[in-house]
Amino acid sequence: MLPYLDHHASTPCDPAVVAAMAPWWSERFANPSNRLHRPALEAAAALELARRRVAEAVGGQTEGVIFTSGATEAANLALKGVAEAAEERGERRRGLVTLATEHRAVLDPLAWLARRGFPLTVLPVDPDGLVDLDQLSAAVGPDTLLVSVMAANNEIGVLQPLAAIGALCHERGALFHCDGAQAVGHIPLAMADLGIDLLGISGHKLYGPKGVGALVRRPGVALAPQQHGGGQEGGLRAGTAAVPLIVGLQAALELALVDRSARAERLEALRERLEQALEALGDVKRNGHPSLRLAHNLNVSVGGVDGGRLHQLLRRSIAVSSGSACSQGSPSHVLAALGRSRQEAAASIRFGLGRSTSEAEIEAAIGAVAEAVAELRHAS
Ligand SMILES: *Cc1c(COP(=O)(O)O)cnc(C)c1O
Repeated sequence: MLPYLDHHASTPCDPAVVAAMAPWWSERFANPSNRLHRPALEAAAALELARRRVAEAVGGQTEGVIFTSGATEAANLALKGVAEAAEERGERRRGLVTLATEHRAVLDPLAWLARRGFPLTVLPVDPDGLVDLDQLSAAVGPDTLLVSVMAANNEIGVLQPLAAIGALCHERGALFHCDGAQAVGHIPLAMADLGIDLLGISGHKLYGPKGVGALVRRPGVALAPQQHGGGQEGGLRAGTAAVPLIVGLQAALELALVDRSARAERLEALRERLEQALEALGDVKRNGHPSLRLAHNLNVSVGGVDGGRLHQLLRRSIAVSSGSACSQGSPSHVLAALGRSRQEAAASIRFGLGRSTSEAEIEAAIGAVAEAVAELRHAS
């Protein structure tokens, strides 16, 4: 099999997670919203256990967990839900603040709100991809309703200073929304300690199934539902709960808590080996902060080669990506925010190592990049 080094796009659903989900498809299939018979009560109990475990995993409150179809839906519910609730109560605060390097799942709903009269400030980042806290402090004022900053970037792995951002938001009376899709299950993250009011989670980014995630809300944060219907999830997200997927999300989180720190340690050593070997090729720039980053991420721009040709060659022997999986075609807005040129962004390689990544795969990746770069540089 082709070495798979694209774990920021998606992770394999762990076999233990698949096993945990198995009984909930065809045997224990009852609808958890129906409280009139035992099978339904059992499904409801499984749902509530998952809610408790997900809350515990992120230092949140059980009653704050709203299961969704993934992190995109969680971000839409959080951002539009907060804005609509503020509008309904005639709140003076309407300002929204975010970073240029956020995921499209955050930037697009915010732009949608901006078109509907919620002033949006998109802050630049420093050349390493970090928020400038002085700029953030200047941008968050008495009119700011919400600040949205992701925990870990999906392209460059950069970790933002969440505790400082949370403290600033609360000092100014603004809400703090954090897209945790790349962080939860990978680094320790406790909502209460960091002052996070709303946290998004995605199952398939943490070795769980696709099509499930959660928004964890600090109880008391007003949210208007974005999907109306049968009143499930405390009236905040109507629709029959996806019990098998939610059980899978719970299992994936539990598994991640067990191996998270050892996995990060192992992958960091492999990442360092990869980084050193690529730097030795010459004219290779790392994108993103050298140490404030996910242990399993490396993003580099290769000088003196055409990005399209580079990826065409790499495709034969490894699975890596350029930019984010969700913005194929257009150059990465994240790398542009770091000041990278179009050409540098096109000739970038994002490596996302994962639970199954072996030393042999890293050596294969090094060989593949070295060969492709030599071929392209020699030809020019
Ligand atoms: C993958 C990802 C999302 C979207 O998650 P889905 O569950 O696929 O909707 C949002 N934000 C970040 C940072 C991501 O990496």
